[in-house]
Amino acid sequence: MSQDPANFRPRTRAVHGGTVRSPFGETSEAMFLTSGYVYDSAEAAEARFKGDEGGFIYSRFANPTVRMFEERMIALEGADDARAASTGMAAVTAALLCQLSAGDHIIAAKAMFGSCLYIVEELLPRFGVASTLVDGTDLAQWQNAVRPNTKVLFLETPSNPTLEVIDLKAVADIAHQAGARLVVDNVFATPVLQRPMELGADVVVYSATKHIDGQGRCLGGIVLGDQSFIDDHLANYMRQTGPSLSPFNAWVMLKSLETLDLRVREHCRNAQKLAEFFDNHPKISRAIYPGLKSHPQHELAARQMEMGGSIVAIELAGGKASAFATANGLEVVKISNNLGDAKSLITHPETTTHQRLSDEARAGLGITGGLLRLSVGLEDADDLIEDFSQALSAA
Ligand SMILES: *Cc1c(COP(=O)(O)O)cnc(C)c1O
Repeated sequence: MSQDPANFRPRTRAVHGGTVRSPFGETSEAMFLTSGYVYDSAEAAEARFKGDEGGFIYSRFANPTVRMFEERMIALEGADDARAASTGMAAVTAALLCQLSAGDHIIAAKAMFGSCLYIVEELLPRFGVASTLVDGTDLAQWQNAVRPNTKVLFLETPSNPTLEVIDLKAVADIAHQAGARLVVDNVFATPVLQRPMELGADVVVYSATKHIDGQGRCLGGIVLGDQSFIDDHLANYMRQTGPSLSPFNAWVMLKSLETLDLRVREHCRNAQKLAEFFDNHPKISRAIYPGLKSHPQHELAARQMEMGGSIVAIELAGGKASAFATANGLEVVKISNNLGDAKSLITHPETTTHQRLSDEARAGLGITGGLLRLSVGLEDADDLIEDFSQALSAA
């Protein structure tokens, strides 16, 4: 039996939400590694395809383990419904393509994950969807970019990699006045720290690859929204185009949600300590973290996020050479472009995640040669600080 999670607090929902037990009464959620389902009769198959009878048909459409993951995320996010996807980018692409048509217009914040920029700037225009990129922290730019055919406003906050924080409530109001939907990529904040739907977002997307798995094992994603968005746009798009999440990966994500709250809060505590250490370090010209008073949108971050997040960006005064030497000198922290892992990971955005961008575009985003993005893990914060102390003094 499915429990009604609405009565519980978020941590309880993360442990129990969406659980459906088989007749064996297993404690832990079952993994249904099956592509198809058998019917008692030809009539039953007909009724199921017609929609007269509930039940699973094919795992591209839905699968019991994947559905448990979706239901648990729905309970955490406060959405009506959701569809899981094979990766975060499959989720972002679905969330946009399922509702946009040639002749429509999308406005997006320019500070965002590199692949999301590709969808907005290159892919959508090829199919006749015009796009405008704005400085997401400047509300006047959002307002001025609105056209009669604007259908979607899209942003991530905090953004990758420079951790700009965008006012969700204000942008949601602009979207709704324009008759458009606000789509929020909530990866950096996670459902633990920020609930965009409570602030007016219509659609929320995640790369579950990041904090939801949290241990660097599986790729996955999910799109959440209200019932009419799912029924009128997303459900059929997912069913027919098939970026489905594998039941194995869904099971890993489902079990990881049980510890999401504990892990994310510990990531944030570690990140805050490191950010404070970086803030006064002579080799660092700028430490960027929403939980630091020096962050340009610190007040807003404190209002719309519970804690500062797990990502810290630092700019080395000595530029690229100094950034590379620091990354190379680290022993506990590993060089990797993934994030939201139990292991602390560092990357140099200019030469990795944002390499594809023009010099101008990078400069506009504040991605300089000296910039490093650190995903703070679950190690002891003192070991991380000691690791940076030695790497920075040698750099
Ligand atoms: C990682 C990430 C994505 C893409 O997710 P994948 O699972 O790698 O496809 C999208 N948005 C943000 C903010 C991300 O960090």
